[in-house]
Amino acid sequence: MKNKKLVYIFNEGNASMKDLLGGKGANIAEMTKLGIPVPQGFTVTTEACSDYYNCGKKLSNQVIEQINNALEELEKSSGKKFGSTLKPLLISVRSGARVSMPGMMDTILNLGLNDETVEAMCNLTKNSRFAYDCYRRFIQMFASVVMDIDDSLFEQCISNLKEAKGYKVDTELTGEDLKGLVVNYKKIYKDHIGEEFPNDPKFQLFEAISAVFRSWDNNRADVYRKMNNIPWDCGTAVNIQEMVFGNKGEESGTGVAFSRNPATGEKKIFAEYLMNAQGEDVVAGIRTPEDISTLEIRNKVVYDEFVAIVNKLEFHYKDMQDMEFTIEDGKLFFLQTRNGKRTANAALKIAVDLVEEGIITKEEAILKVDPKQLDVLLHPNFDSDELAKTKVIAKGLPASPGAASGKIAFSTEEAKRRHKLGENVILVRLETSPEDIEGMIASECILTVRGGMTSHAAVVARSMGKCCVVGCSNIIINDKERYIEINGTKYFDNDFISIDGSTGNVYGSAIKTGECKLEKDFETFMAWADEIRSLKVRANADTVKDSKVAVKYGAEGIGLCRTEHMFFAAERIAAVREMIVAKNLVQRERALEKILPMQRKDFIHIYEVMERKSVTIRLLDPPLHEFLPTEKEDIQALAEEMSITYEELDSTIKNLHEVNPMMGHRGCRLAVSYPEIAEMQTRAIIEAAIIVNKKTSYNIIPEIMIPLIGEVKELKYVKNIVVKTAEKIIAKEAVSLKYHVGTMIEIPRAAITADEIAEEAEFFSFGTNDLTQMTFGFSRDDAGTFLKDYYSNKIYEFDPFQTIDQNGVGKLIKMAVNLGKGTNPNIKLGICGEHGGDPSSIEFCHSIGLDYVSCSPYRVPTARLAAAQAQVKNPR
Ligand code: ADP
Ligand code: MG
Ligand code: MG
Repeated sequence: MKNKKLVYIFNEGNASMKDLLGGKGANIAEMTKLGIPVPQGFTVTTEACSDYYNCGKKLSNQVIEQINNALEELEKSSGKKFGSTLKPLLISVRSGARVSMPGMMDTILNLGLNDETVEAMCNLTKNSRFAYDCYRRFIQMFASVVMDIDDSLFEQCISNLKEAKGYKVDTELTGEDLKGLVVNYKKIYKDHIGEEFPNDPKFQLFEAISAVFRSWDNNRADVYRKMNNIPWDCGTAVNIQEMVFGNKGEESGTGVAFSRNPATGEKKIFAEYLMNAQGEDVVAGIRTPEDISTLEIRNKVVYDEFVAIVNKLEFHYKDMQDMEFTIEDGKLFFLQTRNGKRTANAALKIAVDLVEEGIITKEEAILKVDPKQLDVLLHPNFDSDELAKTKVIAKGLPASPGAASGKIAFSTEEAKRRHKLGENVILVRLETSPEDIEGMIASECILTVRGGMTSHAAVVARSMGKCCVVGCSNIIINDKERYIEINGTKYFDNDFISIDGSTGNVYGSAIKTGECKLEKDFETFMAWADEIRSLKVRANADTVKDSKVAVKYGAEGIGLCRTEHMFFAAERIAAVREMIVAKNLVQRERALEKILPMQRKDFIHIYEVMERKSVTIRLLDPPLHEFLPTEKEDIQALAEEMSITYEELDSTIKNLHEVNPMMGHRGCRLAVSYPEIAEMQTRAIIEAAIIVNKKTSYNIIPEIMIPLIGEVKELKYVKNIVVKTAEKIIAKEAVSLKYHVGTMIEIPRAAITADEIAEEAEFFSFGTNDLTQMTFGFSRDDAGTFLKDYYSNKIYEFDPFQTIDQNGVGKLIKMAVNLGKGTNPNIKLGICGEHGGDPSSIEFCHSIGLDYVSCSPYRVPTARLAAAQAQVKNPR
């Protein structure tokens, strides 16, 4: 770390330096380069953050020296001096990670103020209201961000003052009021810290920088990172920037802007602002912001300049921009720009529009939509008939689309707790703050009383794909007595309400949800993705209903049809149980004889839905005892039905008990013990195909998949049963029918001996759920309880059951692919675990040359897009 450049002046950087300068810093540098009015300053790099952690959470002398030098330059260029009692330089200390993490990290404004410099500001501006407004804000931010003093103490203080004076909004506070507030704030500070509020600007500065570095590791940043797969080790940068003031009076203001509508994608600037306000006032929902159209009336020159800069930035970045701006005494400044978060519908519309406007190519468009976002589009809306019958009880702003019903939860803590109990809750709050992120995750949707379309709740909900309505001002929240009141009616914590994030409507009861309809942009965009990708996408579907959804969402086949799911249906389970507890072959075959026609009918229907698309059917997989009754009455009833004694049945059930069923008598092991089960299933699969092929021109070629193979002889043995059965039927029916027999690779030994196994298998399907649990040696059903300790100690950062562990499990898969292809070059390769729908795992599957991924039907569009992105990034 010796002699490393850890500080960059804004004009030394550019947009490509996000890794080093963080997203915010790199874009501020880029705006500087473009000649856009940006307050000047410098960026302390992400490497300085690593340095800070390496030095045991301390700033090194090296970085301190570089910061001092950069500060001197800023003093020169601004003509102001840090700590000066004549012309003090005030700065902001802003965090900025590589990937934008909205609201996750903490920022401090107006730093450099103390009892003397604040007086200098009064003299300079002849505006003591302004100077003390800055000062009280600074004390609060410094106290809460740097010193961890509870923010609400300050909020309470200002609320009390407003109430005592009968003020409605902060802007009514006078200079004297604010001066008094400063005294009280400093007292709060001293009461908590035991020391006076620090006067030395340099001390303030270095403490603030350290605090930003520290905030990289705080809980809400952690939650956000986990949700978005952002690794911990990339750190944050810190931006030091000269302050510009939107709170100087009626000629000043601050706002946020999107170059297109982030909710709908409409090509029209969407911006909100507040006059006489600073920083987060707009997003915090302290006052309801004004639409940008009123700025045109207020100050046409500033408005025109604003529009020109917005357009310039969007064109430059070739994407919808999310910007912050401030007007100081009628002069416009831009403080931030980044690619804006948007709803799934908006993302599609913007991507399609930008291609049609000739600004980007289809390949670039493909990269602009987050595959996970597509999920949201496929989720249901309110049933329109029911909706028509339900009265709207309140209306807010439609901040994030979707529809949901749930019971009212008043806090994050409560939402989390009740969600755990299986309740659907709606988080109802005055406004949300970054602390609420976990509550938002636990809720079906979010409803706030205050705030605009760019409030915290709105931004975060959109990025999560959660339905959200904000600014619903006629709700009165009474969280002590646990109700909300709307137009005189009370709704308690156990009452259902419903929220439509596309209209902003709130309803006083639960409403059924219905199927969604996909927009034209979705079709256009997905057609581009299909045109581009080389990895095929199939679905895991066990029923006709699943199969229909899969086809609707563009699946090219079924990669996993689990036969056991059909066994649980009420009218079948009796026959299945009979089969399991059968004492001898005769009894078992009699039971199987009952199941056969049902299975055959299922397969006929699935083949018919899938038409010419491939269908891979897996033979029975789970341990048999999963199907047996556990309750005394149920055992009694079954015994009666089977004309055996309770004791007889009970002992059979006890005999089937396994200490570790996940590694027990299941998968192909069942076929080894009870070949007649595999025979019956093969019959159903083959006979169904023959029947459908006679009726239609589909030419079904069934794919029969043998699970849980770990040894080639095992596969040979079961395959022999399958082939013999199939051939017998084909000969008897005197038809020609092609079929394939393959295996799952889900036991590490199968991956290691894949060369041997491939000689007997026509295809491999990686069962990454089992492969992950057996490779790690922990059960996916139990891991949840201790993995959280692994996350908090940063041993693992992601759930390996959601995202393929490339270094371990991935290595096994790669090895199996290579070994398999070595002995069977034509082998077909796919994956059918949970990972088949996870974008980063899909990218991995693409890179190692798999033919297809298979995932749940609702994730098929996500997988299609992720596959296309993988192809654009890494053509094969
Ligand atoms: P976040 O990442 O949470 O948006 P920011 O660092 O962007 O945090 O800052 C928070 C708020 O303070 C924003 O509204 C921003 O525009 C404002 N702000 C930051 N620096 C300055 C500055 N130098 N002058 C005026 N306002 C600023
Ligand atoms: Mg910002
Ligand atoms: Mg398995």
